[in-house]
Amino acid sequence: MVSVPISEQAVWDILRTIPDPEIPVLSLIDLGIVTRVRTDDGAVEVTLCPTFSGCPALHQMRMDVEETLVSHGCTQVTVIVDQRASWTTDLLAENARRRLQAFGIAPPPPRGESLPATLALPVKCPHCGSSETKLDSEFGATLCKQLYLCNSCHQAFERFKPL
Ligand SMILES: [Zn+2]
Repeated sequence: MVSVPISEQAVWDILRTIPDPEIPVLSLIDLGIVTRVRTDDGAVEVTLCPTFSGCPALHQMRMDVEETLVSHGCTQVTVIVDQRASWTTDLLAENARRRLQAFGIAPPPPRGESLPATLALPVKCPHCGSSETKLDSEFGATLCKQLYLCNSCHQAFERFKPL
């Protein structure tokens, strides 16, 4: 099979269309998960930075990247998970926070001097904007989210955990 040469920019553009398996409103690029793309003739190498160690979504992301690139005609796709890198919520693209909020998930605040200080900040309800909220459970539907309750509008919401 002859592989078609593809540019790195084209690969980034394709990756931009792959939704996060757990938060489909964000792409893998919005999340800042893809740290490097290399192309060599028809071979493509994509490096991912794992979000949470042992995050079950990572396996799905790998498969999504492979399958999507293959469907675009890339025949040699290698996905590398860089275990030395550590993802933080500061890698979220600027528009990602707004989209999380619009999706009903409280976005993590930009990380200040320290993580404990960031964690102590009040969490705003994405439905009504009130800061009168309380942590209901450390674990939401996925490992990376916490469950909150709003005292103003009485709705529950998820918060993307800062890290
Ligand atoms: Zn509310």
